[in-house]
Amino acid sequence: MAETIAFIGLGNMGCPMAANLVKGGYRVTGFDLSPTACADAREKGIKTATSAPEAVSDADVVITMLPAGRHVLAVWREIVPAMKDGALLIDSSTLDVGSARQAHEMAAAANRGLASLDAPVSGGVGGATAGTLTFMCGGTGEAFARARPVLEKMGAKIVHCGDAGAGQAAKICNNMILGISMIGVAEAFVLAEKLGLSHQALFDVASTSSGQCWSLTSYCPVPGPVPSSPANNGYKPGFAAALMLKDLRLAQEAANATGATTPLGAEAAQLYSLFAAAGHASEDFSGIINFLRGGGKD
Ligand code: NAD
Repeated sequence: MAETIAFIGLGNMGCPMAANLVKGGYRVTGFDLSPTACADAREKGIKTATSAPEAVSDADVVITMLPAGRHVLAVWREIVPAMKDGALLIDSSTLDVGSARQAHEMAAAANRGLASLDAPVSGGVGGATAGTLTFMCGGTGEAFARARPVLEKMGAKIVHCGDAGAGQAAKICNNMILGISMIGVAEAFVLAEKLGLSHQALFDVASTSSGQCWSLTSYCPVPGPVPSSPANNGYKPGFAAALMLKDLRLAQEAANATGATTPLGAEAAQLYSLFAAAGHASEDFSGIINFLRGGGKD
């Protein structure tokens, strides 16, 4: 019989992820503090419980998808004592590596054979809905092997990055590249405009030259060259600037904690902080081009 899964955190990402587990044949019980999120989940066929401990009490696998480290640690503190011996805990939220490791330690300290995995995702709400997320996983090989069939119902690419915290490390390093590269691509388009070079001409050259990168070819920050990019849709997210800022700050915290030199990561965090403070936090992160065009102010 298919395993029973508890899913805590049924927000923009969690709800479609849990819905894909239901479609994949799992029995899923969800919980969210928000009654609206619970009601939306029920409409998608997800049974909901009245508390997190109730949701996890007969689950073989528990997945958390929450805003940040403090929420994850608070929820794990509540659910670990309520879980069945030998169950598997997976956290797919994006959080700092230190909190991710603390969560693993909490599961191990219960001494009840609980397995744990940090498994943050990339792919956004579109990927969560389509079941095409990338999962970056940290934990033992055994925990990874056990989680894999469950993660495959929600994702297209499942990578074991290493021990506890390695999934979160991969996530923040990847998103630091993304934040920096988006600013680089946006700066190039702004300079091209000043030089009288058309968007399409820059795209045609750079997309097949050494300037080629995902921020240009899949997520072009000007309307036209890539019809599916948020630039063609009024910079509606997509991936909100607030979430990019969160990930860039996590990367800077990690750089400070480890002594890594990341000057461009620091600059990207500063620019996204100004962009968000100017009222654009809920716009797509590629909208930073408009901010740069305006001289970095509104
Ligand atoms: P969200 O705010 O839409 O959902 C989070 C949910 O957690 C909310 O419904 C909230 O009510 C619930 N919650 C908070 N505290 C709780 C608690 N104690 N018990 C139960 N429920 C609780 O956020 P989201 O967009 O779904 O993102 C979730 C995580 O995924 C974040 O860490 C985010 O950084 C990461 N992420 C998001 C995206 C994206 O595009 N949205 C992409 C990749 C990763």
